[in-house]
Amino acid sequence: MQQHVCTTCGVQYSSTLEPPTRCAICDEERQFIHSEGQVWTTLEQLRDSSKYSNEIVNLEAGLYRMTTKPEFAIGQSAFVIQNDGFNLLWDCITYFDEHTLAELRQLGGIQAIALSHPHYYSTQVEWAEALDVPIYIHMDDHKWVMKPSERIQFWSGETLELAPGLTLHRLGGHFKGGTVAHWANGNAGKGVLFTGDIIQVVADQDWVSFMYSYPNLIPLPANKVAEIAAKVKALPFDRLYNAFQRAVQQHANESVQKSADRYIAALEGRLFVT
Ligand SMILES: [Zn+2]
Ligand SMILES: [Zn+2]
Repeated sequence: MQQHVCTTCGVQYSSTLEPPTRCAICDEERQFIHSEGQVWTTLEQLRDSSKYSNEIVNLEAGLYRMTTKPEFAIGQSAFVIQNDGFNLLWDCITYFDEHTLAELRQLGGIQAIALSHPHYYSTQVEWAEALDVPIYIHMDDHKWVMKPSERIQFWSGETLELAPGLTLHRLGGHFKGGTVAHWANGNAGKGVLFTGDIIQVVADQDWVSFMYSYPNLIPLPANKVAEIAAKVKALPFDRLYNAFQRAVQQHANESVQKSADRYIAALEGRLFVT
């Protein structure tokens, strides 16, 4: 029996004798099956290869970004947010080892894991067991959990306060349960929003975008983008981090608002003539 990990998305499945035929996370329009076919590995194989390690970088006071080197699967980063004695692991990555766990202990340990959306579920249950913490996932994405566990706490509604100053908000869009994390104390008290792929920082890092599928370039409807921008407008934050080492460093709420306006203008044929 093995807990197979899809090499395209990095998501781990419950223990089975044979690997699943295809990865359910990849075999739909927000991801893709690799052109050379479905390939599986395991966390043990990744560790035994001695090829990978996690780089943990301090970004600002109380905030660390963790990325596997060399890149594995989607290649996202996770974050450690230190919030007044409650440390959150925001989003997750497939690879970790004893060295990673020792580094996290030096940062004061982890009290909870919360996820933006299924593309980053990775080996979340293994992490939760190693750290002895709960995982918070929005109920609307319940069906995308490929390795069920008692560690997973499904939340519903629009917001969940994990600790004072650290709150999850469901925005939907990319996934129905698509969640962002608001850290009020971050960025010297100006506030930080962690968005995973729910709000995406684009090449011009003064702007963001909103997609149903990033790899297959499927946009969201105008009314959904307007709804996401309106929900975010009420939150006090000046900086926004995505999952790919990009950030809107300042005036991030204004960036979300103007980006939503531009996106809707483009969809409605008002932005350009072509
Ligand atoms: Zn996959
Ligand atoms: Zn995604």
